[in-house]
Amino acid sequence: MKRRDFLGAVAASAAAPALVSSKTAAEPAGEWGVNVFDLHFHLRPQPSANLAHLAGAGIAQANLLTRGDVLDQVKALSVLAPGRFATWFASTDVAKPDAEAVLTQAVKQGARGFGEMKFHVAADGPEFRRAYALAAELQVPILIHFQEVDHFPNEGSWATGYASVFESVLKANPKTTFIGHADAFWANVSADYRNEAAYPTGPIKRGGVTDQWLSDYPNLYADMSANSGNNAMSRDPEFTAGFLERHQDKLLFGSDCSCSDGHGGGVSQANNPAAARLAGKCVARETLSLLKRQASPAVFRKIAWQNVHRLLRIPE
Ligand SMILES: [Zn+2]
Ligand SMILES: [Zn+2]
Repeated sequence: MKRRDFLGAVAASAAAPALVSSKTAAEPAGEWGVNVFDLHFHLRPQPSANLAHLAGAGIAQANLLTRGDVLDQVKALSVLAPGRFATWFASTDVAKPDAEAVLTQAVKQGARGFGEMKFHVAADGPEFRRAYALAAELQVPILIHFQEVDHFPNEGSWATGYASVFESVLKANPKTTFIGHADAFWANVSADYRNEAAYPTGPIKRGGVTDQWLSDYPNLYADMSANSGNNAMSRDPEFTAGFLERHQDKLLFGSDCSCSDGHGGGVSQANNPAAARLAGKCVARETLSLLKRQASPAVFRKIAWQNVHRLLRIPE
């Protein structure tokens, strides 16, 4: 080994994440060029099914989104795949009277955030306002699913009123870190969106509220997962290039993929006929490929790995 190569190898091993052994880290970094962290990974009942998606999609680490009493499952995964499921978020129905107690207990047990928070209440209603205040108090981010348009008949809306009310929430809660996600969050990158479709298509009209608020509010971050994130970033390549550049420190890669193998097997967008454009595909792979095409290598690394480590204070 030449001296320069040796020093490079030493530097590389020093930079490897503390939670991932050099062997597990090396393989995914090879596939995407850098290590990838999936912010939006729903805990699967079978321990091995969790690892199968990470391994298949070439992802080094993930954040588990959970609901209910999951501590044993989270612990089992840390034994099965040490370091791969680096963090977990907890969620509980914000409309229930014990919501604050349940979320507080989860953070005491090690949860690093609230999420996925997906409920049929207003984004600025009393239920969510309590959760925003608690997130600030406990110093953890809150990941919210915003959706106004049904994917199937009578689904109902989630965290309703995003485009009209959420700026007041951002202003009123400067100490709360918000992570925006889902249909309404991403459709509103375009200024002409009026809840006419779950996943609008065509060129983006500049000046949408999501784009604006990411610039104006330091406490707002963006979760790029699911068909919503992928669709928004697929509409208008010129817009996407500028958006990734502008918000390079606020964007977090996530998959929200439900495929079985990290290659599109099984069902990738469960229970969502409106997201048929990703049927048979792995959302993680599709969005990582898109980001690799559209972002500079340095920005890709921030979105795929560095931003989330800084936000969740995970040692790299
Ligand atoms: Zn969601
Ligand atoms: Zn997948």
